[in-house]
Amino acid sequence: VALTLTGAVERHFDVTLVRPSGASGARIRLLLAFHDTTAQRRADSMRADFVANVSHEMRTPLTTLLGFTETLRGAAKDDPPARERFLAIMHAEALRMTRLVQDLLSLSRIEAGEHSAPTERVALGPVIVGVVDALAPQARAKSIAIAVDIPADLPPAIGDADQLAQVFQNLVDNAIKYGRPESTVRIAAQRSNRGGAGGFVAVAVADQGEGIGREHLPRLTERFYRVDAGRSRLLGGTGLGLAIVKHIVNRHRGALTIDSEPGSGSVFTVHLPAAEG
Ligand code: ADP
Repeated sequence: VALTLTGAVERHFDVTLVRPSGASGARIRLLLAFHDTTAQRRADSMRADFVANVSHEMRTPLTTLLGFTETLRGAAKDDPPARERFLAIMHAEALRMTRLVQDLLSLSRIEAGEHSAPTERVALGPVIVGVVDALAPQARAKSIAIAVDIPADLPPAIGDADQLAQVFQNLVDNAIKYGRPESTVRIAAQRSNRGGAGGFVAVAVADQGEGIGREHLPRLTERFYRVDAGRSRLLGGTGLGLAIVKHIVNRHRGALTIDSEPGSGSVFTVHLPAAEG
């Protein structure tokens, strides 16, 4: 029998009635076995939400693509300028869908390995510089300057270099995307005093964008959570960037903190275990 206890927190049980057999159980007539299925139910419903979200995210670009192929066959057939414009939109939508699939794949790969913490020593300077070089064209397009401050004596982190590159790639990409044109994105690394045996290194990525309202901060790293869905879509976002960051940081047994002042920008700080000695 399935039993649901309602209340502040709903709980679910599978209840089985057992009649013990044998003489030793003479005084026990019936046993009720409660199997708590709450966690299982919650996981099922999260999975269902996730599938619904992914389907929705896929459907939007597909609808655009289908709509424009129709237009290109009909009304825009003999209108070269319109054709060019529509093809550019279709290309952008196809790219966004590609990014979505890539992000979904990386997310599931990261989750699959999350239980085993990485062990390499990673010098963060070169990782960060590589990311900044790769994003230079995007920054230039918005006339955004990127300032990097990494002390020479910064200890290496214990981590996975490729995954850490992805973390900084996503954070700096957001800082450029959501930063004000002609502003500065600052990346600063330092030792941090977060306790723990070997100490931590902290890397802060600060932008001068519009900032994020306090009420959004706790949900920001959820998959597909966006402050402004239209804006994210316009900027080509998948809504998975910060979820990926969070899972990689978790795998590193680190932490992500977000400070934001609406109107004056946001600071995303990644804390990673340091390799000492
Ligand atoms: P997206 O692909 O939409 O950028 P993310 O997971 O990277 O997805 O970010 C989730 C949401 O968090 C964004 O849609 C945006 O609303 C908000 N956000 C992320 N970074 C910043 C930032 N630096 N400044 C302001 N808002 C941000």
